[in-house]
Amino acid sequence: MPVKKYIHDSEKIEFREHRVPGKVLAIRIFAGFIVSLGLSLIYFLLISKMFGSPKQTLLEKEVEIRRHEFAMMMAEMEHYSELLEDIRISDEVRFRPVLELDPVDDEVRSGGMGGLRRHTHLEGYASSDVMIAATEKLSNIRRRAAVQSRSFGEVRDASDEWNRRLEHLPLIRPVRSSVRMGDVFGIRSRHPVTGRIGVPHRGQDFRAPLGTNIYATGAGTVTEAGWSIGGYGYYVKIDHGFGYESLYAHLSKIEVSEGDMVVRGDLVGLSGSTGVSTGPHLHYEVIYRGVHRDPRNYFHEILTDAEYKDMISARNTNLFLAR
Ligand SMILES: [Zn+2]
Repeated sequence: MPVKKYIHDSEKIEFREHRVPGKVLAIRIFAGFIVSLGLSLIYFLLISKMFGSPKQTLLEKEVEIRRHEFAMMMAEMEHYSELLEDIRISDEVRFRPVLELDPVDDEVRSGGMGGLRRHTHLEGYASSDVMIAATEKLSNIRRRAAVQSRSFGEVRDASDEWNRRLEHLPLIRPVRSSVRMGDVFGIRSRHPVTGRIGVPHRGQDFRAPLGTNIYATGAGTVTEAGWSIGGYGYYVKIDHGFGYESLYAHLSKIEVSEGDMVVRGDLVGLSGSTGVSTGPHLHYEVIYRGVHRDPRNYFHEILTDAEYKDMISARNTNLFLAR
C-alpha cells in the first residue's frame, strides 16, 4: 500500500503532501532494478561456486560412477591376472618339464612392455590415470593369455606324441606272465645247438610250451613274417616307429602278414621250435636304432597272469590262456 509522505511548511504552518517528480521516480525504480539484478547475479554465482549447477552436479555424479566402475574392473582384471600367473606356474613347473618341453622364453612371456607413451589419446582427462592403468592391465592380460594359449597348444601336441609313443614302444612281455624266462640277453658261454663259444644272445628266451600265444608288445607295422634263413625258423618282426623294432622267433605258426598294422596285444603267432632250436621256446628281441637291447629293460615282471590277461584281453578275449 503506497504510503503518502507529508512535509511541514513552516511558512504557511501546514502539512502538505510531498510529491516526488516523475523523472526522479523513474530513475529510482530503474536503479532499484539494477541493484536487485546485480544481487541476484552475485547470489547465483556464489551458489554455483559452492554447490554447482544441476547439470554440473549430474555430470560429476556420472564421473564418480565411472570411476567406481573402473575401480571394480581393475579389481576383476587383477583377479584374472593372478589366475593367469597360477596357470603359468603350473605350465612351467608341471606340464612342460614332464613332456620335456623347454620353458617359454621370459621375453616371450613378458612380451615387451611398451610403455605409457602409447596412450597419449587417453591423456588430459580427469580420469586419465585410471583409464591408462586399466588399458595397460587389459593389454597385459591379453598378451599373457595369448602366450599361455600357444604354450598349451605345444603341451597338447607333446602329450599326444607322448601317448602315441607309449602305445608304440615294445613295453610288455610277449607271452603271459606265468611263462618262465630262459636264456637271458648277453654273451653266453656256449650256444645250445651250435656249441659255439662267446656268441652273443641278442634276445630274451621264454620257456613257452608249443602253441603258446605270442602277442605284439607295442603298436606298429609287421615288416617281416615268414621263414628265416638265419636260424630264427618262422619269425615275425614289427617296426614300432620311434627307432624301435621287436622280433619273435622259432614260431610254430604265424598269425600276421607283412604290412599288417598291429596294436599292443594283437596275436602275432604261436610258439614252436622251428629254426635253430633245441625245443619249444620263444626267442624275443628288442632292437633300438639297429642295436639289440636287453628286452628285460622294457617290461617288468610284477604282473600276475590275471593282470597280464586284463592288459591283453581288450584285443584277444577268447584267445588268451586257451592254449
Ligand atoms: Zn634265444
